[in-house]
Amino acid sequence: MLKLKKISKSYKTGSFFQKALNEVSVSFREKEFVAILGSSGSGKTTLLNIVGGLDVYDYGDLVFNNKSTKKFKSKDWDAYRNNSIGFVFQNYNLISHISVLDNVQLGMTLSGKSKSEREEKALYLLDKVGIKEHSHKKPNQLSGGQMQRVAIARALANDPDIILADEPTGALDSKTGDKILDLISEVAKDKLVIMVTHDSAMANKYAKRIIRLKDGEVLDDSDPYNDKEDSSLYKLKKTSMNFLTALNLSFKNIITKKGRTALTAFASSIGIIGIALVLSLSNGFDKQIEQFEIDTLSSFPIMISEQQMEINENTFRQDREGEYPDTDFAISTNVNEEMMIHENDITEEYFEYVSSIDPSLLNGITYNWGTTLNILRKTEDEVKVFTQRDLFFTTLPKQVDESDASFLEKGYDLLGGELPKTPYELVIQLDTKNRIDENLLKVLGLEGEEVSFDELIGKTFKIAANDDFYIEGEPVFARNPDLNAVYDSEDAIKLTVVGIVRGKEDNLLSELVGGQPWPGRILFSSELQEELLDLNFNSKIVQNQLDQDRSVLTNEVLDQDDKVNALRMLGFSETPRMINIFPRDFESKDEIISILDEYNEGVSDEEKIVYNDLAETITSLSSSIMNAITLVLVAFSAISLVVSSIMIGIITYISVIERTKEIGVLRALGARKKDITRVFNAETFIIGVNSGILGLTIARLLIFPINDYIESATELENVAQMSVEHIIILMLVSIILTLIGGFIPSKMASRKDPVEALRTE
Ligand code: ADP
Ligand code: MG
Repeated sequence: MLKLKKISKSYKTGSFFQKALNEVSVSFREKEFVAILGSSGSGKTTLLNIVGGLDVYDYGDLVFNNKSTKKFKSKDWDAYRNNSIGFVFQNYNLISHISVLDNVQLGMTLSGKSKSEREEKALYLLDKVGIKEHSHKKPNQLSGGQMQRVAIARALANDPDIILADEPTGALDSKTGDKILDLISEVAKDKLVIMVTHDSAMANKYAKRIIRLKDGEVLDDSDPYNDKEDSSLYKLKKTSMNFLTALNLSFKNIITKKGRTALTAFASSIGIIGIALVLSLSNGFDKQIEQFEIDTLSSFPIMISEQQMEINENTFRQDREGEYPDTDFAISTNVNEEMMIHENDITEEYFEYVSSIDPSLLNGITYNWGTTLNILRKTEDEVKVFTQRDLFFTTLPKQVDESDASFLEKGYDLLGGELPKTPYELVIQLDTKNRIDENLLKVLGLEGEEVSFDELIGKTFKIAANDDFYIEGEPVFARNPDLNAVYDSEDAIKLTVVGIVRGKEDNLLSELVGGQPWPGRILFSSELQEELLDLNFNSKIVQNQLDQDRSVLTNEVLDQDDKVNALRMLGFSETPRMINIFPRDFESKDEIISILDEYNEGVSDEEKIVYNDLAETITSLSSSIMNAITLVLVAFSAISLVVSSIMIGIITYISVIERTKEIGVLRALGARKKDITRVFNAETFIIGVNSGILGLTIARLLIFPINDYIESATELENVAQMSVEHIIILMLVSIILTLIGGFIPSKMASRKDPVEALRTE
């Protein structure tokens, strides 16, 4: 059944060749108890390892069941060891961190037997070798004789054809040794048992056949056998270890060094903690920013003007970058291109499109028509003409939904007087510090450090009718020099200041109604604005101007743009110069934006109407800064991940050294190189999972005090927040990095020579 044909093997140490076996030829019967006898160094162990497929011969052939092993690949040897060979070693070679039962089962897990089958067989064998009651003990809780019984049970587990025993009683006292040899003799009744010994008395007593070795050569064979070869159908069943078995082995190993594993997991979790905290914080800040946006920024208007500058983060940076030029000449540029100013052609069609936006989406819309009003104020002795700019006239948003509280009521506190009841009643808006610009006071005929509300309330203006303000002449119109008559005309509209208001606290919209916060302005209703447009449209001078392409005031020839401006000077325009849309809330804003975008669909870039969403600009600016900070911090934490991967590599390397014997045993039982890699990958996997869980747990706990601190410093609640995605990603990062760290040591482990691995103590 087993035949060695001129097998030679030598070992090379440095430049010295040691011939361990020299052309050994011997055949074995299917069932016999053979003792290999020889002095130390005669090549007994080498012979046994070659028969067992742990070591590979240099020359000759090993024929098993009539099949040559010359062409065996390493996985064939693995299968051969697993299926056909059972090893019994002098020093038992049990794996110390798993139970007796698990030790016996190990070879069967490699050949893929089911759990119930494995356990049944293992218990049967443990019973047969007489130590069933110790099956749940760890090997080091047993005596030498008991351990050798376990080893015999393990050797028998896969029903091998050959049992190889290398001085199985060498470490036992003679009485115990006799019992073990009785057991082995029993086994030899239906198997080939080859036992190595240097004790000739023992060999004579138990073995049926004795082969003597000397200096690597067969000296004498007491019962040689002549085998006839015939062809065979012998087939090996391939081995493999599944990941669960590897996990179980490594888990039980790790259990024996809890302290070290915990420290390793903690050290490598530090990077995870760092990244988890950074991500939680930036995640939380992003959410805060979003909330801020919903709360406050949504009240920022969407602005559409005839000249729209595209504001983004570059707007504020560009001009300051690079060298300032050192020229003694001015450089011509095109401001529209340079400043990215887009000319919006706000047509009547567009005006109507915007006007028809669903009022339920809006807090209001303001239209700035760019028209000049003929504002008159009468002091004791004279009447003066002012413009909107002099009076900081600001048009209030058009109230789009009648059922709504008016814009004034919603956004402002009344400090004195009352709110207007008609379009001809005005209020003065003070800034957040109750201030009013002295220039405005001067226009109102007031001065001094403090001005009482009573002095402001009751101030009156008149808006002169165009037909009174301009006198028709030949060839052009002229201003009426008699302002007193204009002022006193029945057609002049009288406006009275009736109240003093201030924007409600935290209501940005009221501050921003005129585009920016400003100390003191006069708020003017959009109804009045519309009425004036109507009145002016019907005036003689406007009608006259509409009919001709020469200025009605200077007789100059006007192009299209000049004519629009000339009409605006006369208080009339068909289209607004600027539109500010105030969304009701964050969701409405998105909807409004999509309505505005829809208008631009399929329109050339030049004809598009570009709007400016200031809130969006601010938000994207702050979140891009946030992203940059996050990236830097994550990069720093990542360094500690690299360090921990290296550390995992070192720890795994140490583990490989510690588990060298186990590697030898596993290989002897038929584990492939791949399976050994798997065992150590399982170990790093466990550490990776632990450090991931530990890191994320610690980070989660640290979030409590961090949030308390942030809340006490900034009044922001629950800023740091861990998201599920981050937890999953960091868990994977932890596992992958430890696997990478342990990769090289695991590969090293798989390459270990099983013979040498078994030799280590
Ligand atoms: P035995 O088991 O009979 O004592 P071995 O088979 O262990 O003898 O060794 C046979 C010879 O081969 C010895 O001279 C030994 O020193 C040598 N030898 C065995 N294994 C190695 C090895 N891995 N490297 C170098 N020499 C070895
Ligand atoms: Mg030996």
